[in-house]
Amino acid sequence: MNASLAAFLYLVSGVLFILALRGLSSPETARQGNRYGVIGMGIAIVTTLAYQLPAGFFALILVILGIAAGGAIGVWRARTIQMTAMPQLVALFHALVGLAAVFVAASALNAPQAFGLGTPGAMHAGSLFEMALGAAIGAITFTGSIIAFMKLDGRMSGKPILLPSRHAINIGLGVLLAILAVAFMASESHFVFWLIVLVSFALGLLLIIPIGGADMPVVISMLNSYSGWAAAAIGFTLGNLALIITGALVGSSGAILSYVMCKGMNRSFISVILGGFGGETAAPPPSGEAEARPVKQGSPEEAAKILKKAKKVIIVPGYGLAVAQAQHAVREIADVLKKDGVDVKYAIHPVAGRMPGHMNVLLAEANVPYDEVFELKEINPEFAEADVALVIGANDVTNPAAKTDPTSPIYGMPILDVENAKTVLFVKRGMGSGYAGVENELFFRNNTLMLFGDAKKVADSVLRSLE
Ligand code: NAP
Repeated sequence: MNASLAAFLYLVSGVLFILALRGLSSPETARQGNRYGVIGMGIAIVTTLAYQLPAGFFALILVILGIAAGGAIGVWRARTIQMTAMPQLVALFHALVGLAAVFVAASALNAPQAFGLGTPGAMHAGSLFEMALGAAIGAITFTGSIIAFMKLDGRMSGKPILLPSRHAINIGLGVLLAILAVAFMASESHFVFWLIVLVSFALGLLLIIPIGGADMPVVISMLNSYSGWAAAAIGFTLGNLALIITGALVGSSGAILSYVMCKGMNRSFISVILGGFGGETAAPPPSGEAEARPVKQGSPEEAAKILKKAKKVIIVPGYGLAVAQAQHAVREIADVLKKDGVDVKYAIHPVAGRMPGHMNVLLAEANVPYDEVFELKEINPEFAEADVALVIGANDVTNPAAKTDPTSPIYGMPILDVENAKTVLFVKRGMGSGYAGVENELFFRNNTLMLFGDAKKVADSVLRSLE
């Protein structure tokens, strides 16, 4: 295959990737978007293989073996992963992209002739710069993503680790990286290259450890963006158009998603990119005294009676719904209520669950019609007209401390105003706090009824009582 045909096919796959991103922006078009993405990636892989064929049969076999091994692991993980563990998996994927960028830069430095970058000791300064940039962003992404993985997977505390003068340290490391990059371009020294990688590993770690659990969704999309830029920088080193386009798309869409989420959670975008945002307000320890306060506890039968009398019900799903896999039972409750003429809607908070879009995916899986699912801004004014807010396995996203308590780790995050409904039914196993580790004042309100138990079991019992 000649270079022009390869460039054209890479462009076609780039266009398909853009269509994929566009499709993924709405649940209705997401499947079609995914198809475009798969076709685009298929074209890019076949083009790369065909273009690299002259590199020799052995190289081709190695690539095919790599794809087969990686693909097999990918299929196995995709089939076995729990929906609730998806964010950790995504964090690990980002770590791999980052590490791949470091390895590609290292290979290019060791054998520049194989990449068409000149001979050892006589490489172009531009290529050396791209290598340094790709390796640095890749290494930052790698350690940052590993920390994000460990925090999300509970292998490390979700609490922010705040080192003294951490901003000064980060700026210092950033300046050191710039100096090392210049030294690398001047010397082509392997030692300096690996110093760049080491300093970047440290910077990735330091950028993510001060970030608290409540801000993790933004971190994931930010690391997604970093991994894209690392790939794009490496695309320049390899002169691979597909990698440049794809990396830039991932980098910019990740940055836009981070920006949208920062706006949604009332965080500063700039401090997100620089690390350590939201860390100043550490989670207060849950107060034992408050938990001893009385709450109104109800039974599924009582809940069914309240629901039967209602004219308008808004269902608020959260992480607990995902854990219990209660989405089907909840949709069946909605079906019964709708048959009785009740107006039923679903309210989705942008960071409900453990990844952006988590609740949308679950509800779609349970065949909840898209036109019954509403975003925070659309649905919030409607709680005041609702007879019942049925909150299933959600906690932080309903916590009014986000509006009233400036010391709370979730302060500033927009929340679903469930408290404005006439009755709030909370389905959860006990008085446990949510992801951010803060208590929810709503549990103790007069218009709240707590339904303790596993979300699926409680929903099944409510359904039986309704029927
Ligand atoms: P949440 O605040 O974490 O609360 C979930 C609640 O579900 C818990 O209080 C828990 O209480 C209950 N629960 C757990 N298992 C259950 C089960 N089997 N049956 C019934 N209830 C169960 O969840 P959320 O309201 O969805 O808020 C999401 C939080 O995660 C936010 O703080 C957000 O910032 C953070 N986060 C979001 C993302 C994202 O991208 N969406 C990523 C990372 C972090 P009990 O223990 O008492 O049952």
